[in-house]
Amino acid sequence: MKTLHDDLGLRRVINARGTYTPLGVSRSPEPVVKAVAESLRHFISMDELSNAAGQRIMELTGAEWGTVTHCTAASITLAVAAIMTGGDSAKIRQLPDTRGMKRRVVMQAGHLVNYGQAIEQAVRLSGAEVIVAGSEAECAPADLERALSGASVSSLLLVSSRLCGGDMVPAREAVARAHDSGIPAIIDAAAQDLRLREVLATNADLVLTSAQKYLRAPTSGLVLGRRELVEAVRAQERGIGRGMKAGKEAFIGALAALQYRRDLDMAAWAREQEDKAKGFAAKLDGVAPLRAELVPDPTGMPFSRVRVWVDSATCGKTAEKLAGELAQGDPLIAVQDHDNEAEALMFETVALTEAELETVRDRIVHLIV
Ligand SMILES: *Cc1c(COP(=O)(O)O)cnc(C)c1O
Repeated sequence: MKTLHDDLGLRRVINARGTYTPLGVSRSPEPVVKAVAESLRHFISMDELSNAAGQRIMELTGAEWGTVTHCTAASITLAVAAIMTGGDSAKIRQLPDTRGMKRRVVMQAGHLVNYGQAIEQAVRLSGAEVIVAGSEAECAPADLERALSGASVSSLLLVSSRLCGGDMVPAREAVARAHDSGIPAIIDAAAQDLRLREVLATNADLVLTSAQKYLRAPTSGLVLGRRELVEAVRAQERGIGRGMKAGKEAFIGALAALQYRRDLDMAAWAREQEDKAKGFAAKLDGVAPLRAELVPDPTGMPFSRVRVWVDSATCGKTAEKLAGELAQGDPLIAVQDHDNEAEALMFETVALTEAELETVRDRIVHLIV
């Protein structure tokens, strides 16, 4: 049978980089695929779907309310907008012109991440402006307080991600300080759905997570939190959010993925991931110029990645060169960017099958000897 890849002349991809947008992010489990396919066969009242989704998201996540957007980048723009406008339809129509609204969004310097777009731009799209607290190396509580007490501050935007750097005020404390100043807090936890309860426990007013990353839904963003703000996010669809809306297939897919997650035995899943990562590390650790080790996820997600050190003197090529060659082949093998690109490769094995990991091993062995 002709595959989708053959039909369009595309290479197959073995994605050991992680939930990476330019590689199609994730592969959905069968119940999600079925739910999405079914949604495409029907007309649906989107208002009814939106209400039902809020209810279902509440039951599945424990958040007060929730909705679905096109993706987390959209959720950031819309969350910031929702806090500026509330449910006021004149203000919603007025954006991105923010005249008469508080328009400053405080961010700690170490949270100015780039996920393929600089996060500040997602904020600025709403008409808001970013005020940076602290330096890249450090944001002390006093730096945060100073920024929060400035004129025209509308919200605090925090990021929970392994892309963050420096010594920043921890989420729970930062949220408390914002609340002390009467300012709502948003957390971008795009790739943190596996620790969603922990993020919700920070008391943030809005928590944003991507449904297409570890949740493996079609591209969509989940917005969870205070009902009135979630409704204000949804209301942006009659304004700047029109181009950021989720279709019926995104709503249905995200709900199916949340349900799939609820039914998953997380302890068994985590054990399976650990075994898979260990097995892959063991496959490579014996190979001459390589040394492999497990690296726990720095944000506390329940899995480890595999770091493979490449002794370039013996091997004749750097880790960076090897990564380039892995990406040139067919199938395309993608590995993760790493701080010490020249010396080590990083593999995320979560999404991969044993057969794919075997292919990766064979290709690496072929390339280094
Ligand atoms: C992936 C990511 C985003 C963007 O999410 P999309 O759903 O792809 O728009 C935003 N912030 C962080 C920290 C991310 O990792």
